[in-house]
Amino acid sequence: MVVAQNKVVQIHYTLTNEAGAVLDSSSGGEPLAYIHGIGNLIPGLEKALEGKGAGEKLNVKVSAEEGYGVRDPALVQDVPRRAFRGIDDIRVGMQFQADSNQGPRMVTVTRIAGDMVTVDGNHPLAGEDLTFAVEIAEVRDASEEELAHGHVHGAGGHHHD
Ligand code: ZN
Repeated sequence: MVVAQNKVVQIHYTLTNEAGAVLDSSSGGEPLAYIHGIGNLIPGLEKALEGKGAGEKLNVKVSAEEGYGVRDPALVQDVPRRAFRGIDDIRVGMQFQADSNQGPRMVTVTRIAGDMVTVDGNHPLAGEDLTFAVEIAEVRDASEEELAHGHVHGAGGHHHD
């Protein structure tokens, strides 16, 4: 069985950026389980996995465009400190849920200057060219229930009570 639309795929992966720094890895833990073809993974990675089988190893380079997107300068905003009601200790690196035109979005505090706080709504990996070292652990059919929920149940996936 090979990776195709609506298959459940389990992968081990190590993600590195252009500088070669490891950003994320499943090594030593459960593999990542996802349903192929429904937007669970970034497009560039899904495309590379298509047609591959269990046991295959591949090195996938994903451009920012096919990864977490290019950086959008419009998502960087200066907001007055008083907008953060109830938070006394705002620090660079803190993340907040903010309302936007496209619904709630995570923003990261990137700069604090006097009374102004700069927040960035770009994904932390936006604008980065990424490399995934992937090993496919398993490919199987998704159940009706998994397809209805849009996520994998069991190993590496969601666990319902
Ligand atoms: Zn579910």
